[in-house]
Amino acid sequence: MSKSPQSVLSVVVPVYNEAAGIRQFHTALVAVLKRVSLEYEVLYVDDGSSDAGAQYIADFCREDSQTHLIKFTRNFGKEMATTAGIHAAQGDAVLLLDADGQHPVDAIPRFVTKWQEGARVVVGRRTGRQAPLIKRMGSKLFYTLLHRMAGIALDPSASDFRLIDKSVQADFNRIREHNRITRGLVDWLGYEREYVTYQEKERTDGVAGYSLRKLLKLAVDSMVSLSISPLYVTAYIGAVVLPAATLLGLAMAINFLLHDPLHMHATGGAYLGVLILFLVGILLVSQGIIGLYLSHIHTETQNRPLYVIDNENVADRS
Ligand code: UDP
Ligand code: MG
Repeated sequence: MSKSPQSVLSVVVPVYNEAAGIRQFHTALVAVLKRVSLEYEVLYVDDGSSDAGAQYIADFCREDSQTHLIKFTRNFGKEMATTAGIHAAQGDAVLLLDADGQHPVDAIPRFVTKWQEGARVVVGRRTGRQAPLIKRMGSKLFYTLLHRMAGIALDPSASDFRLIDKSVQADFNRIREHNRITRGLVDWLGYEREYVTYQEKERTDGVAGYSLRKLLKLAVDSMVSLSISPLYVTAYIGAVVLPAATLLGLAMAINFLLHDPLHMHATGGAYLGVLILFLVGILLVSQGIIGLYLSHIHTETQNRPLYVIDNENVADRS
């Protein structure tokens, strides 16, 4: 891998209604990029902003041929914006960066250094989280659930502020699924990761585009895309209920046939109760079976690459 000064760093910035702070952001970003000993390109992906942000960015593009704008027709969400940016990036490494100033541009040289030292995935780890309490609690709950249900131990402090080498970008571009979390997919691809710690700042201007409702949707989407275990839940319940109801039913049948030796004095209602429990058990188990098949269809339709091969530092077969 050549990481000479001629290497190009692609910086992908998803933008949604950031007009208020975008100029300040761009100036700071370019100042830092000029300091690192690399060529660069900046790809802004305007995610259907309803403010003048895209016009400002178009101005930046006119002023500087290394800045480019990809403009969505409407709001598709940050995950799609980052995906489009990664698809379009032509550099030797791709850096993902938020436009709201929460990812300090001053940390970029440290990402680049790690990459130049050979890291192919460099993940920004935030300290001093500024999010409100409810958001912090929600994300803690989400990570715990994801760990329990999907066995995936995501690092809650790992952010979207990350750099991937172009070999990782190539693997990322092979992933075609629609419901996607960029961060989760980068994690899924594997590769050893290096970390850069940064202090998360308050967003410079505007409001977070992610409302609680959007975040909740994001959490549910990640869960569905990363874990199939919710589909097994009814199967597990059914697996407990059905044998219990069967045993209970048998006990009651024996009791009935032998004229109540255990003195249970079971009423008609009790018999009915056990019968219903039995039928519910059958329903739960059959739902669980459907869930099993659905989980297979789910993974098939995601159509992820079967495996990811690390082509580096490996003796060529031929
Ligand atoms: N963003 C986007 N589309 C959206 C929402 C947000 O492209 O629908 C961008 C936004 O402009 C910012 C980044 O994604 O650059 C992070 O968004 P935000 O600050 O709202 O999220 P948070 O800081 O809560 O992760
Ligand atoms: Mg933000």
